[in-house]
Amino acid sequence: MTETLHLSRRRFLTYGSMAASAFALHPRSLFAQEVSAFVAKSRAAAANATITTIPLRSNVSVLAGSGGNIAVLTGFDGKLVVDSGYASSQPQVSNAMGLLSSSPIKQLINTHWHLDHTDGNEWIHATGAVITAHENTQKRLSTTQTITAFNAVVPAAPSGAIPTEVFTDKKVMHHNKVTLQLVHYMPAHTDSDISIHFEEPAILHTGDTWFNGAYPFIDYSSGGSIDGMIHAATRNLAITTGETMIIPGHGPIGNKAQLAKFRDVLVEAREKVAALKQQGKTLEETVAAKPMAKYDEKWGAGFVPATLFVGLVYQGV
Ligand SMILES: [Zn+2]
Repeated sequence: MTETLHLSRRRFLTYGSMAASAFALHPRSLFAQEVSAFVAKSRAAAANATITTIPLRSNVSVLAGSGGNIAVLTGFDGKLVVDSGYASSQPQVSNAMGLLSSSPIKQLINTHWHLDHTDGNEWIHATGAVITAHENTQKRLSTTQTITAFNAVVPAAPSGAIPTEVFTDKKVMHHNKVTLQLVHYMPAHTDSDISIHFEEPAILHTGDTWFNGAYPFIDYSSGGSIDGMIHAATRNLAITTGETMIIPGHGPIGNKAQLAKFRDVLVEAREKVAALKQQGKTLEETVAAKPMAKYDEKWGAGFVPATLFVGLVYQGV
């Protein structure tokens, strides 16, 4: 990334969005302290999380409120869980899981490596669960990671949090009489993203390839890109029907029509930002032009404000 882009993004993030306040930036001389600040602030916020349990169907529920959406499949084989939220939410998450059933957690699947989806891995593994993920999730959790857009550094995860069952392209699991199709996306939100399709109940967990009703974060420093995000949204549409219940990484449980809208917004953003960039507009000029203005109030109200989203698209076109 160029220094100009870097500085511009830093400036975007200092404007008062929720994301900006959560990941307030510091001078580079404080980089070491910044590591713990990023992680500590995220965990501290999650310590007070209220967990909402959303029953879907066929013994699948979603626990929302600690980082990314957590899916739980209960049954005779014990629980199978997708993503683990923040470690600091363990009391609330554990309590919510206990209310679903008293059976132990046997399997944990990570949609990708990001902390808000894997920070709880260690305590869930300690209860006896095997952790499955894409090989890049294992690699990235094993070493220090940088998230450039937030100027943040995430230390390597503890050994108990590292997935031990990994795959490259796809994997099939059978648990509680449900067939689970795990498929790697081409790099999209990161290079470690997988989808988890619960076949018989027709439920798809997309991880962070879908933020329902909000601009998504795209982590270029982990191999993500706007083109990969569009490709992932297209693939998500191809494997779902009007009956599929779709669990996004962030946001409410959705359906195919909402997913189609998300893809349309990404495509429109890519076209508009690319046109401005081809006209020679700088990043700041492109952001100032508000190319997605009609969506910004609603779609920029979440984790990723409009200014950051346009900057992330600009970076990839
Ligand atoms: Zn993520």
